[in-house]
This record gives sequence, structure tokens and C-alpha cells, in this order.
Amino acid sequence: MKFKEKIIQFMAGRNGGDQLSTFLILISLSLTLLGQVLDQALLVAVGYVPLGVAVFRILSRNVEKRRLENYKFAIFLSPVYGRLHKLNSRMKAASEDAKVNKYVKCPQCKAVMRVPRGKGKIRVTCPKCQNKFQTKS
Ligand SMILES: [Zn+2]
Repeated sequence: MKFKEKIIQFMAGRNGGDQLSTFLILISLSLTLLGQVLDQALLVAVGYVPLGVAVFRILSRNVEKRRLENYKFAIFLSPVYGRLHKLNSRMKAASEDAKVNKYVKCPQCKAVMRVPRGKGKIRVTCPKCQNKFQTKS
């Protein structure tokens, strides 16, 4: 029997990998890495705990229970994911904006205004104090 088939047979009826196990493995890796960097043997040892739990969950035959755990984990994490996603899209929008617009400060009143990028030297009228000044865009 080929190795791959052996694995497939071994994993039959078991839970296998899911998001919670992936998360546990990542936690474990970070802890052991941090423990090594900080030279803290205890941290390295603690880092094996989530790895053990992950291996247990992957090999578990109690698929229903493991699925429920993963489901609860997903619900617990969804607001975090949502926030990260929002932050990411906001950052993307900001960098898109920085490509087409430039922010300049009025030399008189220090108000910040947006000017289009790549137009060479332009004359700007400050919307706040009506001061006219030249700037590079
Ligand atoms: Zn101004």
C-alpha cells in the first residue's frame, strides 16, 4: 500500500484539520518560537500544549463534538475577523487615495487639503482662509 493511501485510511472517520486546529498550531508555533527567542524553557513547554490539543482534535473520532468546537471558535472569532477585514480595506483605500491625491498644508493657516497628484506645479486656494499658494503635486 502506498503511503498516501495509508494516510487516507488512517484518517478515515477522524476529524482532520479545521480552523481551530490551525489556530492552535499557530499559537503553539508562536509560543515555542517566543520561548526560544526569550530563552524561556517554560514558554517552549507551554507551547506544546496547544499543539497536543490540535493533534488530538485532528485525530479525534468524535467528529460531531470537534465540529461543534470549531463552530463555536468561528463564532467567537468572527468579530475579530470582521474588524481585521474592515481595517484592511480601510488601509487599502488609504493607499489608493495616496496614489491619486496629495495632502498639502496651507502655509498660512496650516489647514490640510487634498490636491490631485502628478499635475506638476499647481496653484491652490485654501478653502479655509482663501490664501493662494503654489505647491508641487
Ligand atoms: Zn489657509
